[in-house]
Parts: sequence; C-alpha cells; structure tokens
Amino acid sequence: MTSALAPERPPAAPAAGVARAPLPPYTTVVFRSFLAGSAVLAGLLVAGPAPVQDLAGLAGILGALSAVWYGALRVAVPADRRPWVHMGVAGLLFLAGMVMRAVVPGASDSPPTLQSLWPDAFVVPGYLVMGYAFASMLRRRRAADDDPARSDALLVGAAAAFMAWTFVMSPTIDQSGIDPIRVANAFFPVIDVVLMMLVAQLALAGGARTPALWLLIAGSTAMFIGDLLFMLRDNELANVPLTAINTLFTGAFLLFGAGTLHPSMRTLTEPQQVIVRVLGMPRMITIALLVAVPVVMTTVQTMHGVVDGAVRATLCVLMIMAVLFRVVRSNDSRARAESAGRRRATHDALTDLPNRELLSETITAWGDRARDQQQEISLLFIDLDRFKMINDHWGHQVGDELLCAVAGRLGAIVRSTDLVCRIGGDEFVIALASPSHSATAESLAARVLAEFERPFELSVGSVVVSASIGVAKTTGGAEALELIRDADTAMYKAKGSGRNAYALFDSSLRDEVRDRLLLEQALRGALERGELYATYQPIVDLATGEREGFETLMRWEHPELGAVSPLRFIPIAEETGLIVEAGAWLLRESVHQLAAWRAAAAPGTRPLHVSVNVSVRQLRDKALVGVVRDVLAETGLPPEALWLEITESGVMEDLATALATLDELHALGVVMAVDDFGTGYSSLSYLNRLPVGVVKLDRSFVSSVGTGGTDEQIVRAVLALAGALGLRVVAEGVETDLQRDWLVEQGCELGQGWLFGKPLRASAFITS
Ligand code: C2E
Ligand code: CA
Ligand code: CA
Repeated sequence: MTSALAPERPPAAPAAGVARAPLPPYTTVVFRSFLAGSAVLAGLLVAGPAPVQDLAGLAGILGALSAVWYGALRVAVPADRRPWVHMGVAGLLFLAGMVMRAVVPGASDSPPTLQSLWPDAFVVPGYLVMGYAFASMLRRRRAADDDPARSDALLVGAAAAFMAWTFVMSPTIDQSGIDPIRVANAFFPVIDVVLMMLVAQLALAGGARTPALWLLIAGSTAMFIGDLLFMLRDNELANVPLTAINTLFTGAFLLFGAGTLHPSMRTLTEPQQVIVRVLGMPRMITIALLVAVPVVMTTVQTMHGVVDGAVRATLCVLMIMAVLFRVVRSNDSRARAESAGRRRATHDALTDLPNRELLSETITAWGDRARDQQQEISLLFIDLDRFKMINDHWGHQVGDELLCAVAGRLGAIVRSTDLVCRIGGDEFVIALASPSHSATAESLAARVLAEFERPFELSVGSVVVSASIGVAKTTGGAEALELIRDADTAMYKAKGSGRNAYALFDSSLRDEVRDRLLLEQALRGALERGELYATYQPIVDLATGEREGFETLMRWEHPELGAVSPLRFIPIAEETGLIVEAGAWLLRESVHQLAAWRAAAAPGTRPLHVSVNVSVRQLRDKALVGVVRDVLAETGLPPEALWLEITESGVMEDLATALATLDELHALGVVMAVDDFGTGYSSLSYLNRLPVGVVKLDRSFVSSVGTGGTDEQIVRAVLALAGALGLRVVAEGVETDLQRDWLVEQGCELGQGWLFGKPLRASAFITS
C-alpha cells in the first residue's frame, strides 16, 4: 500500500504542454535585464547617498510595477491572466499609498496621527487585492480538495500571528492603551500573516517549485519583515531607520516583479497533480518547531495582562488544532488510498465486476454459513463461445464493449444476493447460495443461455454470441479454488457437447480431465521418441476390387499406455498444436512411402495415390503449403497422386484462412478430399465453393446400406450430387459384401473398409 501513499505523479507535465501558447520572444532576456537592474538598484538603496537612495527607491517601485504589468499582459497565458492583473492592481494601490504618505502633510508622522491613516485607505485594499491574487493562484493550482497544504499553511499563519502578537502587537497595546489608530496600525502584520499563509500554501502544496514561486515567497517574506519593523519603529519599540524599511519594501516589490517576469510564472496558475500526503521528515520537523516555539514562549515570555494571555492561548490552541487536523487528514487520505487500492485489487478494471480474488473470498465466507444453514453454494462458470473470433474480427475495443454488455446483462438477471464476477478474458462466474437440492443454479444457467439469444447492440451493429456454462455445487466446506476449477471443468464439457449449453459437474469429469492432462503430457515428445508411426489402409475400386491407393492413419504406441486410439490423441494433438509438426512428419513419410511403392510397382499397374488427413490447425499454419511443395519436389511424385483429407466443420471454423490455403494447395495440383462427408452442417452449399475433387462418404451412412434404411436415400442423393459436380466418391467403412454390392449398384466408384483391409504398417504391403 505504500505506493498508494507516495505522491501521485501521473505521466509528465499534466494539462500543461497541451497546446500551451508559446512564451513571447525575449522573455528570458527581459527577466535577466530586470534582475540586473534590480541588483544595481538594491546596491544603491543599501549603500548609496541619501538622495540617490530615494531616487533608486522610486525607480525600483516604478520598475517593479511595470514588470508586474508586463508579466501579467505578456508572459501569462490569457486564460490565467487575472491573478497577475490583480497583483498589478495591488501594486498600484501600494504606490498610491506611498504617494499619499509623501504628499499629505502629517501622513508619515511617527508616532502616527489621524492623518497617517490616509495612506492606509489605499494600502489596506492593496493588501486585500494581493491576498485575493494569491488565493486565486492557489485555487487554480490545487490538485485535490484534500490537499493537506491548507492545514499546513494554517499552522504557518498561526505561528506567524503568534510572533507578531507577542513581539509587536501586545507590547504596543500594552504601551499605549487601546488607541484606535495604533490598533489599526497593529493590523498590518495580521494582514501580512494572512498573505504569508497563502504564499505558504503555494509553497507547501505539491507540484513544481519554480523560481517564480520562490521569488513570490521571498517578496512576501520581505514585506512581512518590513511591516513588522515599521510597527516596531512606529511604536518606538525599536530604532529601525526608515531607509532600511523602505529598502525592504522596495526589495519586496522588485521580487514580485521578478517573479512575474520569470518564464516559470505560468506554472503558478496551472493545476498541479502532486498531492503531498506523506508527512516527510523535513515537514515533521518544521511542524514541530512551528508548534514548539510559540508554546515555549507563552510560558517563558511575561504576559501583558488577560488579553495577551487569551490571544496567545487562542493562537496556541489554533496551532494544535491545525496539527491535529493535519494528522487526521493525512490518515484519511491514507485510508482512502488504501480503499481505492483494495478496490483495484478486488475488482476488474474493465467491467468493475468483482474479480477472482473477491470471488474466492466470498465463497470462503459463504462456506461456513452454508454448512450451518443447510445451504448450497453454486457456481456458474460462463465462457463466451468463439470470443476470440470477435476480438480478431472487430478488434479489442469491440471485444471490450461486448464484455461490458455481457456484464450488464448478467448483473440484471441475478438476485441481489448473488455475485457476478469476471475472472478472466471472456470468463464470468456467478456465485449463488440457495437451499440444498433446489436446482436454482440450473434454472439460472438456462436463463443465462436464454439471455444470450438476444443480440448485443455494439458499435459495429448487433452481434450474437452464445455461451457455454459449467455448473458446480458444494454444500459447504469446499475449497473456493476447487469449486471454481470444477465449474471450469464442467464448462469444458458444455463446450465439448457443441457449445451454447450448460453442463453439471460430476466427479467423473475430474478423472477425465486428469486422464486428459496425463495423455497430453505423454503426447509431448512422442514424435521425437519415435512413438508415432504411420499405417496405411487400402482404398479400392469397388467394382473390380483393384487397389486404387491408401489412406494414411496415424498411430501412437506409448511404452506404458500402449496403443492410444487416434480418436483420443488426435483431438489433443489438435488442441495443443502438436498436430502441426506430427502431421507434417506423417505427410512426408506417406509421400516418400508412396513414391517407393510406385517405383517398385510392376509396369502397367494402376498408379497408386496416398490420402493424408489434414487438420484445421495445419490448414491455419502457413508452413503446410511449403511442406507439400517440398516433398513433391523431393520425390518427383505427380501432385494428383497426393490427396489431402479435410473435414467440412474444420474448414467452416475459419473459412477465410482455410480457403486461402486450400486454393494454394489446389494450385499445386494436389487433390482435395472432403472427409466424413454428410456429418457436417452445411455440406451441399459449400461443396462447389471448395476446390474439391473427392468426397469421402461417412461410415455412419455406409454401415446401414443394403438393408433398406433411410440412409440409403441420403447415399443415393450424395452420389447423384457428386456425379453432377464431377467428384469422385469414396465410401468409408465398408465391412460387408452386401454393402459393397449395394454401393456398386448405385454407381459408387471407390471404397475403403475392413472388407478390403485394415490400416497396417507399410511393411505389411511389401509383398502385395
Ligand atoms: P477418419 O479419417 O475418418 O479415418 C477413418 C477411420 O475409420 C480410421 O480410424 C479407420 O481405422 C477406421 N476404419 C476404416 N475402415 C473401417 C471399417 O470398415 N469399419 C470401422 N468400424 N472402422 C473403419 P482411426 O484410424 O481410428 O482414425 C480415427 C480418426 O482419427 C480418423 O478418422 C481421423 O479423423 C483421425 N486421424 C487418424 N490419423 C490422422 C492423421 O494422421 N491426421 C489427422 N489429422 N487425423 C487423423
Ligand atoms: Ca480420413
Ligand atoms: Ca472419414
């Protein structure tokens, strides 16, 4: 959490830099010249002869005023000009006050008289306008409302007020009684204190501490000291020469002028994004001193009566409150930062739904209650079907839109006590507690599926997406992670059963998953270890029984597991991508084998072909075309002797990529065969769009032919269609003479099946 407490610093220069007007030319030159001029004047003020001092003072004040106005009108960004203009106005008012003091007889009398209040009629508003200028700078700068700079500044102000009171005001009043004129004069340091507080805030608030800021701070401090000395002199408490005080005032003016001219003055009115939350060591020490000094002095310095005591006590209390306030603030923002951090850790940033962490916590928390109250905790693990396709097709932004829309719908159909979470890319989980055996979860799963029937309205139009749901339940005591995993497993079963469905978890699924994982582990490296081999099954001319070619079928012999059926390992090889390498290996193996057979064949015999299965994963892999081209070149085999078997459903999965690859393969001259024909969902409509030469009629149709079943109609229709399109047909799984005879009768050219031979190693065919 510590990082959340550190000053928050978003990527460089916020807001600033975005289309900021360029600085007027020569800004730096103007600033430097002003600084040089000021230095000369300061030298004259301190060391020059009396008449020169007066002139230098006047020049300094006029120069400073022009500088402020120049800065306000030229250097400041027009939108941020106002505080600077106010400073210029304040300067004019101060100037008016000075002129009055010089012109009105008795205005600069010391001790003061009623006449000496005249200049104050200008000077006091001057201070107010100045204060207003600082306050509006602060407002523009402040990053957040809970910036502790305010309470820190209050502390500085209270401490300054304490000093002013104890050393100047209280002795003054004590000496002269309550004389309204003097009290009015004693007010200046108070105004100064307010100004100091504002400037302190500018300094204490986080953000850029630029030269302009330091110049303003220095100017205010000089003014504060000047006013203090003036008071002391006025009240005959200290014998300060008037020239020294005037020098301080002129210096303050020059510093303000320089601050307004410096290019960094713009940063004073720009929002600063850094909030000081930490009580760093330097700040701690400063605060401690600010509090300690007045408190010690209250006890050490002699009191001047009840009023003095009351004022001092009040200021001390004020300071202590400021410190308390500061600590509370600091703590508050720590707590806020922590709770924001906690929300980030437990919620998904995109949908703002609870995440896996919070889900686990909730399940654990529900666990005990469920046991006591005979309740059941159910999880619905919801995974969007083919979400990747949406992301790939329309981009991630649309994917995100969909996820948010799904989050909204799920949230709308659950009860307020249920928890909807997003625990991964397109994976959502609904957790619910319900009375045991109530089937609440199943009915909710059905409702979720129904919700997905309505299209989602996204920026690219309406999009229909289905979901697969796994449901797992426990009557308490189950580990959260285990329950999530079980629901996940059930979801895979739902996907396997054709998607857009829900499946209930049962423990046999766990075994299935375990077996599958073991198999997957075993399959890795099977090719390198030489556990894979090719078998060949004859494809014959049904009418004559003459051999036409072979289909290559992959086999896996594991040292411990024994022979693993391709029906089990091929899907795993496809999912893991292992099929790409193994398939390429088998393809090369088959073509080389066929070339060898063809070379050894007696002259005049029918030229054989080899038919190799190709999975979707291979079609999607760019390497396939190259492998085919290379192996044909190596062996010199005519391309039409190589058939590649593809399944329709595989092609449909990613039509665009598959079509592109199929066209390239077709261009090489190899023959494409549609495998398992009739089991796909769009057989007929796509048949003439694919560059196909052969149709392999699925075994499920062939098994019942010759007995008068309805499948005979389908087979007749397929044969008619293939004839019309000029395609050759291979009937798969021919096991009996009856089947063969019926097929021949219907004009089916080719067949494959146990009747003609089982898949065997190549060596088994050497003699035949
Ligand atoms: P498939 O491509 O439809 O292959 C035909 C399957 O039917 C083979 O099963 C074959 O042994 C079996 N079969 C052949 N004649 C008969 C018969 O008369 N009766 C019966 N009941 N079955 C017969 P196998 O070898 O177990 O292969 C199963 C599936 O595994 C294949 O179905 C194919 O989809 C996949 N497969 C096999 N080898 C490969 C391969 O190298 N690459 C890819 N991608 N898939 C392969
Ligand atoms: Ca096949
Ligand atoms: Ca087949």
